[in-house]
Amino acid sequence: MRATASHTPSVIELSSEAIAHNLRFIKRFVRKNVRISSVVKGNAYGHGIELYVPAAESCGIDHFSVFSIDEAARVLAVKQAETSVMIMGWIPVESLRWVLENEIEFWVFEPERLREALKLADIMRVKAHVHIELETGMNRTGFGPLELNDTWAVMREYKHAFVLQGLCTHLAGAESIANHVRIQRQIKRFRLLTGLFNAHGFQAKTLHAVSSAATIVYPAFQFDMVRVGILQYGYWPSKETFIHYVSRRKKKQDPLNRIISWKSCVMAVKEVRQGEFVSYGTTFLAAEDKTIAIVPTGYSHGYSRSLSNSGRILIRGQHVSVIGMINMNMLIADVSFLDDVAVGDEVVLIGEQDSQVISVASFSELSNQLNYELLTRLPQGIMRRLTP
Ligand SMILES: *Cc1c(COP(=O)(O)O)cnc(C)c1O
Repeated sequence: MRATASHTPSVIELSSEAIAHNLRFIKRFVRKNVRISSVVKGNAYGHGIELYVPAAESCGIDHFSVFSIDEAARVLAVKQAETSVMIMGWIPVESLRWVLENEIEFWVFEPERLREALKLADIMRVKAHVHIELETGMNRTGFGPLELNDTWAVMREYKHAFVLQGLCTHLAGAESIANHVRIQRQIKRFRLLTGLFNAHGFQAKTLHAVSSAATIVYPAFQFDMVRVGILQYGYWPSKETFIHYVSRRKKKQDPLNRIISWKSCVMAVKEVRQGEFVSYGTTFLAAEDKTIAIVPTGYSHGYSRSLSNSGRILIRGQHVSVIGMINMNMLIADVSFLDDVAVGDEVVLIGEQDSQVISVASFSELSNQLNYELLTRLPQGIMRRLTP
């Protein structure tokens, strides 16, 4: 049967067709003249920055958002010249020069950082491409109302040293209706604060506030740009967001496609006698004679240990159970009811095989992780490749 040729014990495949499909869906959904920033932090949610960025560019995406400078450098290394990169999170002070040199857009959320960045841009005779993050109620990062006077003073002092690329904020949980009142209040504050910037003579090129959930649930808050992460990879931020979407549509099926498949192979097959324990400890006792398959993927590869004795994988087009404890580098499956399982057989950990499917959702429910968490924990070291 099919073998997975790879230099790593498992391989992650991304479907180019699914990437194009999801981005077409998002473009149709987003209002006219609203730019899409593709969020590729967390190694493109585990999909792999180096593969995902060029694939998204070929579908017309020209703006990418990351959390930190290491991620920005990886996008920079593979992107087209005209494509923009935006750092939404942490930049160590020593890296400001690099950020400015490479014309990377970046969020500023403290007066001190704004002064440092603009002063350095002034010395370097370049323009800093800043997005000022406003605190509207998430209470994480962002300028509060009491910091605005200082902010404007710095902006006046260095008015030739920056482009105000954006005024932005982040909403605290638009994926749940329980947060509705809080979100409305945040947007009200955002409008008020951006109005104050205008009144003081500072016009931002873009206003942006929403990620995937609010893009869907609050289309009126899309402003000039949406920062879309999880949707482009084919997942809904929450069940509620999906229900919100389909309940307003005639067609009730999911408009998104999954991009990722995660595959490994059988490394050994053996027989276990009735009454023997399998794997570490005594969590699995063979109630009858069994045939087991050993797969070279364990918790160090991102296959959660909490799937011990409960995970499901596909071998020869059939669902089989993971038995015993997941090891650091291996897992064991019960293949007693399959004929002729052989070393080298393809194993699907996530994805499809002969029309059977293991979804990330089923996987994350079993292991009690969010889709977001499970995907971003897929190690960078696993080989990744694009498929048609
Ligand atoms: C991660 C993130 C996003 C994208 O979130 P999704 O729910 O994946 O769409 C948008 N904005 C900020 C500031 C983020 O940190």
